[in-house]
Amino acid sequence: MMLLRFLSLALAALPLSLSVLPAAAERPPIRITADLSDAPRKLYHAEIDLPVSPGPITLITPQWIPGTHMPAGPAGSITGVVFTANGQALPWRRDDVNLYEFHLIIPEGVTTLHAHLDCIVTSRVSQKLAVLEWEKLLLYPANTPVRDISIQPSLIVPAGWGVGTALTPEGASSYPVPAAGTTTHFAATTVEQLEDSPILAGEYFHEYPLAPAISPKHYLDVASDYPEDSRLRPAFLAEVSNLVREADALYASHHYHVYHFLLTLSDVAGGEGLEHGQSSDNGVGEKGFSDAAHQLPEADLLSHEFTHSWNGKYRRPAGLYQPDFATPQHGAMLWVYEGMTEYLGNVLAARSGLKTQAQYRDVLAMTAARLEYTPGRLWRPTEDTAVAASLLRGGNPAWYNWRRGQDYYFEGELLWLDADTLIRKLTGGKKSLDDFEKIFLGKGGNTGPLIVPYTFDELAADLNQVAPYDWAKFLHDRIDKINPHADVEGIERGGYKLVFRDKPSASEHTIEANGRGSRSGLDCWYSIGLRLSSDGQIRDVLWNGPADKARIAPGYKIIAVNGRMFSNDVLRDAIRESKGSRDPIHLLLQADDFIRTADIDYHGGERYPALERVDGATDYLDEIIAPLTKPEVIPEDQSKQTDQ
Ligand SMILES: [Zn+2]
Repeated sequence: MMLLRFLSLALAALPLSLSVLPAAAERPPIRITADLSDAPRKLYHAEIDLPVSPGPITLITPQWIPGTHMPAGPAGSITGVVFTANGQALPWRRDDVNLYEFHLIIPEGVTTLHAHLDCIVTSRVSQKLAVLEWEKLLLYPANTPVRDISIQPSLIVPAGWGVGTALTPEGASSYPVPAAGTTTHFAATTVEQLEDSPILAGEYFHEYPLAPAISPKHYLDVASDYPEDSRLRPAFLAEVSNLVREADALYASHHYHVYHFLLTLSDVAGGEGLEHGQSSDNGVGEKGFSDAAHQLPEADLLSHEFTHSWNGKYRRPAGLYQPDFATPQHGAMLWVYEGMTEYLGNVLAARSGLKTQAQYRDVLAMTAARLEYTPGRLWRPTEDTAVAASLLRGGNPAWYNWRRGQDYYFEGELLWLDADTLIRKLTGGKKSLDDFEKIFLGKGGNTGPLIVPYTFDELAADLNQVAPYDWAKFLHDRIDKINPHADVEGIERGGYKLVFRDKPSASEHTIEANGRGSRSGLDCWYSIGLRLSSDGQIRDVLWNGPADKARIAPGYKIIAVNGRMFSNDVLRDAIRESKGSRDPIHLLLQADDFIRTADIDYHGGERYPALERVDGATDYLDEIIAPLTKPEVIPEDQSKQTDQ
């Protein structure tokens, strides 16, 4: 989200410390008070005082939000904007082209402009908790690097709510849980850092210290809609502490003064996973971590977002670092930013026990199979899914497999597994991707929050330092080119192969039963080529697969199968019985307001992906997911609780 792509390669490789930039210190700070008192009514308020000089001024709200990889700023939800100076209202006009900009004329004699604004909030908020991502309320001078703009934040939350954030409370040595009705003041920072420092506030708020022997300090801050949900299981807390220890061992550096995992457990506040340098905003359902089965679909959430503190926040592709939140970000290297994080997040989840090693392999099989059965790969290279990331976020699942989605995450996971096993093979097991991470993500040693951009050439050079090889070609071959098949070389070099079985793996079964949204429902992708929600609605049809050849389309709903009313079991039975039968599977379908029939000419039985050990092969995959540290269990009584 910043400037460095304009600098020379040599300069771009140097850490750019926020503290050496004089501009932020010389100007008086903007003062912003965020008022979350109305959070249960889905409204946030802000009072902002901006230092100004007489004459024209352009103020702006954020558009390209770091980590979202798209222009997702909330300008359309900002309301009630009133500017005053010396008690007089000042007129404003929105820019005709950049709709995020407000133009004003500051009168003579005015040095402080006051702005009031409200934001209508539709996600990350419920009756009992709220997450403030500061871009919802920020307003600051346009055309100025946001790392140069000083700002002092304050916060008001509903009476009795606890607060979790990586921001430093002013004058306080400990972590703030404000008394009813009080305002918490935080130390001055920059607009860049404030945007990167969300707040979690909630009535049922707990703060759990993690891995006490590791420095700096790590906390898990959790808020839920019901009191019992945020009293997290000791086993889960022990696994998150293991995660902190495993990350410490893997990266051997850190780029934060303190780290806060912010976590909501709510069916209302929505799912989320947004990385920040010193914290992460994580949202799962009410019961998301209530037991091991619910945990599995979310098992790599915290490890993924935590990894981003190193990969994505500290080290960022130069094109994704812009001087302000108005300049478009360039997604071309998201297969490193997200793809390598996807790989490392899953490896760390397995090393810390957030998922078992068998679950790691099952989920990896599901990922590899999904990519292999994505016909969009026949026309679209993986790099294009990254370049076009902002077009591919969200959207309709219809023909998703022919369009491709944000495959740079999962293609990246396979690519970095391929690289990891290749390094292990090239060096006779002496080196691994862990060694590369220590170089690439640890450059400059321990730092505070900092953004150090990189280029493709630096990435290839650092890989080469660990194991000499033509890494530029290795990466180009897998990213820029059309590849009809998924990259399963890492799995195979790791001692396994992708196979299809007639029963889902234990993990696939658990995810189907406990996952939410697109992770629930019946998956007959590898047999008849259909993905369904649990009521029989067809989410997607495999391009050129058996159901596609029967002219079935996404959005149709299955009413009956072979003359029997639809249920998951009825369809499964029909697919199973297709083996050895000459009859097609006969479907009755609702297509918009019409009824139609389709005959699927398929006779292969059920098919679900799994990894199978290859006897006698190297066991790199098992080696990769073995813990680096000794697991410890955290005593339960270390949690601080506001609802008891
Ligand atoms: Zn990510």
